[in-house]
Amino acid sequence: MHVVIVDPSRVVQQKLAVELQASGCYVDCFSASDLALQYVETTRSVDVVLTSLELEPMPGLELCWKLRTFVGASRPLHIIVMSSNTSERALAEALDCGADDFTVKPVRPEELTARLRAANRIITMQRQLVEQASTDYLTGALNRRAFMATVEDRRKELDDGDDLALALLDIDRFKGVNDLHGHDIGDEVIAAVARIASEEAPIVARFGGEEFALAFPVLDAPQAAHWCDVIRRAIAETPFVGAGGPFHVTCSFGVAEWPAGQTLRNALKRADKALMLAKSRGRNQVLLAETAMIEPVRISAA
Ligand code: GH3
Ligand code: MG
Ligand code: MG
Repeated sequence: MHVVIVDPSRVVQQKLAVELQASGCYVDCFSASDLALQYVETTRSVDVVLTSLELEPMPGLELCWKLRTFVGASRPLHIIVMSSNTSERALAEALDCGADDFTVKPVRPEELTARLRAANRIITMQRQLVEQASTDYLTGALNRRAFMATVEDRRKELDDGDDLALALLDIDRFKGVNDLHGHDIGDEVIAAVARIASEEAPIVARFGGEEFALAFPVLDAPQAAHWCDVIRRAIAETPFVGAGGPFHVTCSFGVAEWPAGQTLRNALKRADKALMLAKSRGRNQVLLAETAMIEPVRISAA
């Protein structure tokens, strides 16, 4: 477990760090609460924050509150407050400010390691829940909600001038696959398409049925269209065997850029229009939204 200790005393930091390292934890120590906050916000591997209340420049309770607000519901973080004030009011205040647990100073080693074991159980369970809530059961790809959140986050991390391209992928005439080869084989095809797309696209989500969304941070639409075409060819070359014998499937793609300042919904709408056009123009092809509405740019030969 990755633990961050926040305490004004270097002696206390050192003592706790030695105990935690002995029980297998990776430990970072901070005296200043603002530096600790900044570190935890930018370091996703931190599992536990063990903090005093008497801190500078921001008090420990404010640190708890800011950490809890920042991590939200999608990032498990266990906050343990250490205080020499044992009153019920102090305990209630700490919990109300976002702490998960409270321990009395000076902290006894056996108690601390027991509390960390409990923290580990909770964090592991939270991780599993977050994963289940954000992934599609059949393919292991992200679901729509997780895709929207992930891509929104990525856009915020990028500079305004950086490119980010999106693509929608839809399996061609998939109803026929189910009808001819059975629903289970249809599921196998959907899982294979997700696997192949994940080899080239950094972010892949199943939007529903046989439709996927892909995101390519720092690529513009023509660059993303190139990778979509690599995916398109790999899928078209993959052999399947079903109730009706051996078969192949193809996919159509609509690609659009998502510039800073525009809504994600709008960018996806443009990708969807390009996808619809790819379908109407013969399927098994990649079309760019920017030009598709005027003169379609066919990236691939159908
Ligand atoms: P097009 O080329 O225009 O996309 O034609 P299509 O047949 O792929 O399109 P349509 O949307 O009519 O059919 C999609 C089919 O996907 C219908 C539905 O039965 C099937 N489907 C949706 N979800 C699943 C799933 O989880 N597993 C399987 N096997 N089939 C699914
Ligand atoms: Mg389809
Ligand atoms: Mg569809």
